[in-house]
Amino acid sequence: MSTEETAPVAHSNFIHEIIDSDNVSGKFGGRVHTRFPPEPNGYLHIGHAKSICLNFGTARKYGGKCNLRFDDTNPTKEDVEYVDSIQEDVRWLGFNWDGLYYASDYFEQIYQFAEQLIQKGLAYVDSSTLEEIRSQRGTLTEPGQNSRFRDRPVAESLDLFRRMRAGEFQDGAHVLRAKIDMAHPNMNMRDPLLYRIRHAEHHRTGNTWCIYPLYDFTHGYSDSIEGITHSICTLEFENHRPLYDWLIDVLDLYHPQQIEFARLNLTHTMMSKRKLLELVETGTVSGWDDPRMPTIAGIRRRGYTPSAMRAFCDEIGVTKFNSLNDVVVLENAVRSDLNKTAPRAMAVLKPLKIVLTNYPEGQVEDLEAINNPEDPAAGTRQVPFSKVLYIEQDDFMENPPKQFFRLAPGREVRLRWGYLITCQEAVKDPATGEVIELRCTYDPETRGGNAPDGRKVKSTIHWVSAEHAITAEVRLYDHLFEIANVADIPDGDDWKSHLNPKSLVVVPKAKLERSLATAVPGYKCQFERLGYFCVDKDSQPQAIVFNRTVTLKDEWAKIQKKGG
Ligand code: ATP
Ligand code: MG
Repeated sequence: MSTEETAPVAHSNFIHEIIDSDNVSGKFGGRVHTRFPPEPNGYLHIGHAKSICLNFGTARKYGGKCNLRFDDTNPTKEDVEYVDSIQEDVRWLGFNWDGLYYASDYFEQIYQFAEQLIQKGLAYVDSSTLEEIRSQRGTLTEPGQNSRFRDRPVAESLDLFRRMRAGEFQDGAHVLRAKIDMAHPNMNMRDPLLYRIRHAEHHRTGNTWCIYPLYDFTHGYSDSIEGITHSICTLEFENHRPLYDWLIDVLDLYHPQQIEFARLNLTHTMMSKRKLLELVETGTVSGWDDPRMPTIAGIRRRGYTPSAMRAFCDEIGVTKFNSLNDVVVLENAVRSDLNKTAPRAMAVLKPLKIVLTNYPEGQVEDLEAINNPEDPAAGTRQVPFSKVLYIEQDDFMENPPKQFFRLAPGREVRLRWGYLITCQEAVKDPATGEVIELRCTYDPETRGGNAPDGRKVKSTIHWVSAEHAITAEVRLYDHLFEIANVADIPDGDDWKSHLNPKSLVVVPKAKLERSLATAVPGYKCQFERLGYFCVDKDSQPQAIVFNRTVTLKDEWAKIQKKGG
């Protein structure tokens, strides 16, 4: 089991306590072998990242192993595209599997297990319709009814089952069911379905099979075959555990321990592959890797880092209680990671032109700028300064309220890494009355940002030199959903009506400092005062596109409101 050098060792949790006590009792001979078992029917999301960090992280912590296993028992919904993306995502998160398996590798063996169950009188072929089977299941308060095929002779079930495999029957003609107890208080134990007929091509086994085992039937056996010790899954499988245990025990097989933990849910997004697929298929988003998507591909494209994802998964912890995590926790994880690693740059999203009336025409100075105050090794760069600059429209107010300390007529501010400037005049478009240019003076004595006479200015604003700036598209992303808890959407509502219409705002012509001209897709930096950004894959050498990964701290927003 190997992970990236930097992968932090996960905090302890209740699963680790179980493993510790198993190691003391010698239950698995001190072995720890986990698996991550996605169904290849969609792209992985942040919830899967939690499961990946837990399974691979646990193996790492105990010097054990972790397999990647594709639970590919549902031929009609699965695809190699998903198989490939899942492997890419697991690797991106910094993990490597010990074994790479497919549940479909075990189809023959699982089929043999099914025959054994029939022979032991523990499974039967039911020729009822699915409708009949459903209506006989009973409810939580009422027992179910036995199927009229339940006591079918073993030889007849075996013959039918073999003919099911041979392709003699249409879809739905028969199913194989376990013979357990139709009055069992746990509905999953009421003669659960084990196999169904599906004349469908499978992405790996092609047309070899026309019967496919159900998830519950396949999963435990796959764990057992691989020698998994701790089979970690989400809470909704808690009441499947009796079936998991029963299936393994009746065949006297090696018995892994299933352990359930709470799924990850995040505010302002959702973790359902089915619904995410719907967003993709309806063109509501640009694809599985749309930076608004909670998919690993989406957050990667948005600029999140693997180390931030691992830190986030570690921070939220592992519990037995379903809850809703605030997306702010995820955002803070990426902020604190990028704060340490992302070089700073200056970019102006809503440019307002500034002319420094007393600055010599044609003069250009290279000002020294620190690349990352958090990382001295990141060094410095030269930022060109000249007579015509851009600042943010929001950094100027003609009639500022008390709390606004940035630029205003007659007021002096500091240009980051540059000079102190004073606004002398706001030039307006005569037609609209809109301020289109500021005429300012600069104080030549203040290069670097300090006045020799010690006079104070209250704020520092960012800027770019008009002549040197590059023009780029900047995509500002926000929450996918307006509603915080997607689970609160009433049943009758169209869930898509709760999407955030402002989840993507495109700034077509932002002005960026020259040093960003050569930035390539994946490059991450901080635009000072604006947030963390990364170059999108849509970028072209002469048409750079940046994504906003996340805004700066909420504290920063507060400071800005106060005019800092
Ligand atoms: P979805 O409901 O989105 O389709 P799933 O559970 O069907 O998800 P799988 O491919 O079966 O998707 O999931 C693989 C593993 O990831 C499983 O072990 C599952 O328990 C885990 N997992 C899925 N969603 C979450 C989540 N939100 N939080 C934690 N683990 C999750
Ligand atoms: Mg599943």
